[in-house]
Amino acid sequence: MKDWELVCGLETHVELSTKTKIFCSCTTEFGGEPNTHCCPVCIGLPGTLPKLNRAVVEYAVMAGLATHCEINPNAKMDRKNYVYPDLPKAYQISEYDQPLCQKGYVELSNGRKIRLTRIHIEEDAGKLVHERGNTLVDYNRGGVPLIEIVSEPDIRSIDEAVEYLEKLQMIMRYIGVSDCKMQEGSLRCDVNISVRPKGSDKLGTRTEIKNMNSFSHMTKAMEYETERQIDLLESGEEIVQETRRYDEGTGCTEGMRGKEDANDYRYFRDPDLVAIRVSPEKLAELKARMPEDPQARFSRFVKDFGLPEADARLLIEHRRIADYFEAAAKGTKNPRAVANCITGSIFARLATDAEKEEFRVTVSPENLNALVKLLDEGKLRMNLLKSTLEKMLDTGKPASEFLSEKDLAGVGADDLRKICEQAAADNPNAVKDYRAGKEKALKAVLGAVMKATRGRANPQEAEAILSEIMAG
Ligand SMILES: [Zn+2]
Repeated sequence: MKDWELVCGLETHVELSTKTKIFCSCTTEFGGEPNTHCCPVCIGLPGTLPKLNRAVVEYAVMAGLATHCEINPNAKMDRKNYVYPDLPKAYQISEYDQPLCQKGYVELSNGRKIRLTRIHIEEDAGKLVHERGNTLVDYNRGGVPLIEIVSEPDIRSIDEAVEYLEKLQMIMRYIGVSDCKMQEGSLRCDVNISVRPKGSDKLGTRTEIKNMNSFSHMTKAMEYETERQIDLLESGEEIVQETRRYDEGTGCTEGMRGKEDANDYRYFRDPDLVAIRVSPEKLAELKARMPEDPQARFSRFVKDFGLPEADARLLIEHRRIADYFEAAAKGTKNPRAVANCITGSIFARLATDAEKEEFRVTVSPENLNALVKLLDEGKLRMNLLKSTLEKMLDTGKPASEFLSEKDLAGVGADDLRKICEQAAADNPNAVKDYRAGKEKALKAVLGAVMKATRGRANPQEAEAILSEIMAG
């Protein structure tokens, strides 16, 4: 790879999470018995007419706004003709030369902007299931709304490709237009890839790897394909422009077919559908519906709440978590304690990314807020915070159920002195060590005091009293 540079662009398909399909009222729910989420429209029976789902246009515009695109006030739908069993009409309804959104970008953490050529809406095709030498077809997915996000060939490394796709996933989830689950196919992408000598600004011949459905497959496929192209070029051969498939079993890519040209699809405007018009009023309404940009929110969490960047990043990854944090941190002096409760005890109970995305937590943000406010008021010690939160998470009950008056009152000065004296008397060796100059010996006795008070003592006060007693 030393003398070569990778040039890559991604075509990303995102299934929109509208309740119904793009041209009919069938459900978009994932799974179900084969061919049960279908009707005459989405299986393309003659004589049926499609009717565009308004929510699809709204979601696509929101996706465009979130990625800094220009929104076309006038768009239209076209037929992309091809014959394949997953498409019963023998054409896919898509957008050809007047896409809804264009000229956007996604910014990476290294500051590079990956430009977006366009975002257009289209219908998904059915799914072919290969079984014992036969091929079955399931049209449940046919007619599920998709947006295709096409990037310019601005990506220069596999890491950038992964980060770009992760960013898109986060943005789409954030604005609520898709769940972007790669394992269920609601996020998948085609990778266009070529290599060129470092320093060259000419584009090499590219190949397209179809249908990447996981980050690890995408990484492996890109590694393989880059190596393959470099090997060919270094041995004086040429790259054939073609579509390739990644084989998970062998870790290799293999040629499927020559790359189609747009001409091969005989695009023409779909005569069954009216033009799409996005009025300035509609655009303003959609802009108002957009949540805060996750990047802006990240900066605000670091600046306004004083969170470390690593914590802020964990909190903004899913919108529900960020909303929860803000509600729980409202008006406290300890937003970092709130963040630690979430990324510690709460995350420990949410094993998967999907569970984090759903963020079902038994403790309401109001109850977490009340718990941390006890800390603010000096009524609760940090070490009782975690154990109390665990009890709250187990039961869903507020902190007041688990903290007695005594817990919240702390330990009085006289009582604390007595407990410290007792602890020193119980640990004569530690006292001897301390007097011999081993300052660490105090910590062992302090531990005994905290244990005896079940964590209710103020450790700084206890330490001051102990150093006095132990010095003799
Ligand atoms: Zn249908």
